[in-house]
Amino acid sequence: MTTEPSGALFDVAVVGAGPAGSATARWLAMQGWRVVLVERTRFEAPRIGESLAPNVQEPLRALGLWDEFMALRPLPSWGTRSLWGDATEQSHSHLLSPYGCGWHLDRRAFDRMLAHGAEAAGACLLEGVAVQRSVHQEGCWWLRTTPDTGRGTASQQTLRARVLIDATGRRAHVGRGLGARRMLFDRLVGVAVRWADVAPAERGHLLVEAVPEGWWYSAPLPGAAQHEDGAMIAMLMTDTDLCARSRLSGAESWQGILGSAGATKQRIAVARRVSTPQVNCAHSQRLLRECASDASPWLAVGDAALAVDPISGSGVLRALRTARAAADTVGELLARSHAVRGALAAYEAERDKECTTYLLERARYYGAEQRFDTPFWQRRQVLRRVPGDAGNPTLSAIAAAS
Ligand SMILES: Cc1cc2nc3c(=O)[nH]c(=O)nc-3n(C[C@H](O)[C@H](O)[C@H](O)COP(=O)(O)OP(=O)(O)OC[C@H]3O[C@@H](n4cnc5c(N)ncnc54)[C@H](O)[C@@H]3O)c2cc1C
Repeated sequence: MTTEPSGALFDVAVVGAGPAGSATARWLAMQGWRVVLVERTRFEAPRIGESLAPNVQEPLRALGLWDEFMALRPLPSWGTRSLWGDATEQSHSHLLSPYGCGWHLDRRAFDRMLAHGAEAAGACLLEGVAVQRSVHQEGCWWLRTTPDTGRGTASQQTLRARVLIDATGRRAHVGRGLGARRMLFDRLVGVAVRWADVAPAERGHLLVEAVPEGWWYSAPLPGAAQHEDGAMIAMLMTDTDLCARSRLSGAESWQGILGSAGATKQRIAVARRVSTPQVNCAHSQRLLRECASDASPWLAVGDAALAVDPISGSGVLRALRTARAAADTVGELLARSHAVRGALAAYEAERDKECTTYLLERARYYGAEQRFDTPFWQRRQVLRRVPGDAGNPTLSAIAAAS
């Protein structure tokens, strides 16, 4: 962790060192901007989102972090098996991809590697420091921060920056504090349990299985990082209210509902449970902000700007890709401070387009499963409810139907 005096003026402050924030910070630092990357944790706790598609190689190579990624010794993923729309298992092999295979990784180690990658490029990395409040005055941002373990005003410090980036994930802590609002498209949660000693034949692929309450996802985890052999995560994706009604955060109820997921249950039949169920927010959302003529120079990147359903398997990839777009936009804001509104409006228009495309993909994906007439699945038959030209609906039409 870099130390920097309180009150120092940076070109850019990036709040949140998940994949989006760290990649944005690295891009900007490589361009020579003075960047501070503020992360409230010290990457001490396990993180969720451990399966990466083969084409993640592209942004990691562009960032110059491919060797660092391989040094984490991720497990190769040879493909996805699914029971979706049909009780018969379908397989999709990654061997057809030009990149060869996908990856299962330890997300905590991956996120730490990216944050250190930003630091190695010259960004000032502050770990264990949370941004509480951001105010734009006298031509720059003033960020009030608190050490993670600190209490009271004695431990607070202030950072200053010309441009501010919200990379705080689904919470969009910074943007919401500045008046932006989240458009929520669902109330999805993932109830995850970790396992060890999974049978060797189950250690090379991802499995997705639709059930009346939602769908199951199970994926291998690298053993060394988990201090376990044959580690795996198994997670039920369902809605907040359905999760609460069935008390799925309790180990017994979780185990009970696994009974309706034959393939997933079979997969972990000989395995040993090593955690209790953990509930993770997984809702889809878009952060909406005004780009008025006096717009102050801030933007959101990654999940803070647009969070997608884990069924897409693209959260980390999107975070890394939009980091490049965010860095380009910020470079423009810093170089031409009179053009703030236009640059921000163009950035937001791109995110809106990405959001519309994503919502259509999501609707088609859920539309392919017609076996269950249950609340979870009824809520997701979105395209049937979109008025007018369902072939080319707008973001607001899909949002209204969601
Ligand atoms: C259940 C589930 C399963 C998923 N599975 C996959 C998967 O298999 N593959 C995949 O590609 N994606 C998956 N995703 C999505 C993926 O995890 C996210 O898209 C990705 O993490 C987004 O990166 P990010 O940097 O935008 O946000 P995050 O990864 O959420 O990072 C935000 C960072 O900001 C920090 N922070 C928050 N508030 C503050 C503050 N006030 N001050 C300082 N720091 C702060 C946090 O500590 C964190 O480090 C999954 C998501 C969920 C919910």
